[in-house]
Amino acid sequence: MAELIDAYDTAMFDLDGVIYLGPHAIGGSAEGIAGLHERGKRVGFITNNAARAATTVSDHLTSLGIPASVDEVLTSSQAGAHLLAQHLQPGAKVLVVGTSALADEVRAVGLTVVASATDEPAAVIQGYDPNLDWSSVNEACYAIHAGAVYFATNLDRNRPTERGLVPGAGPQIDAVRSSVAVEPVTAGKPDRPLLDEAVRRWSADRPIFVGDRIDTDIIGANNVAMDSLFVFTGAHGKLDLLGAGPEGRPTYIGADMRALLAPPRVASLAGGRATCGAAEATIVGSEIRLDQPGGDLEDQLDGLWAVAQLAWAQPGLDYTQALDELDLVPAGQGQ
Ligand SMILES: [Mg+2]
Repeated sequence: MAELIDAYDTAMFDLDGVIYLGPHAIGGSAEGIAGLHERGKRVGFITNNAARAATTVSDHLTSLGIPASVDEVLTSSQAGAHLLAQHLQPGAKVLVVGTSALADEVRAVGLTVVASATDEPAAVIQGYDPNLDWSSVNEACYAIHAGAVYFATNLDRNRPTERGLVPGAGPQIDAVRSSVAVEPVTAGKPDRPLLDEAVRRWSADRPIFVGDRIDTDIIGANNVAMDSLFVFTGAHGKLDLLGAGPEGRPTYIGADMRALLAPPRVASLAGGRATCGAAEATIVGSEIRLDQPGGDLEDQLDGLWAVAQLAWAQPGLDYTQALDELDLVPAGQGQ
């Protein structure tokens, strides 16, 4: 049977929660990427994390047994810098609130990095900084009050680490936002610039995006009309999937990114009945019931995909009991 990837020329990946989790590779990702290369597919790695340079990311991937060139990595810092370049005159001054990696990308597009509002920057760009200096938050506010245009690399509320979720760029940006009453122009997922840049850079005609979050990855892919594969190796799980509105529903689901190399999971929906593989979901009263004969994770994902079709087609049905039966599928954060 055909593999999911057969319909696409380029596979684009979110990194944290899809390829690696913190410093460690997610099981099977090196093998999966190698399989894509063997099939002659283009591969690209895309991250909302603005703190690390693309070279640092490509070195990290290579150290995990996933050889990646710097051209195969695209960060929200790079997309943010390109966004600035589109809006500003060459050489314009930009106040950077973020890491040196972000400042380097701003310089690379021909803009001038400044550190103080007294330099009268034309724009402010803010990205995640693990060592955020509070005085730079103040400088950003002064500059924006004085008329600088406000940009952000991404608005992720949190980020996964080995020891759990911690605040991401969003809360840092909130510190500025709450004092300036201006919304930043944003480069990262789910906004368009990062994925638009990815399509351009890799000349992708038929790309698919693989992600672990509904709110950034899947909504981001849908925003640029790109097909998507939602995987269960990261932040979100079955609760997030079932709770997704039309804008956050993926084209496919899979246990991990190796689902690209397997036949696509396809469900059919007719009336009050949905089937996927050997699983069948039906509506009984106000509840979705699941007949789930198999026991492994792949079987349970068939069941979940059948339940999702009914839950999305008829909002308001109770799927709690059906999801409880799918005990091998990660629940996610429900947020
Ligand atoms: Mg992720």
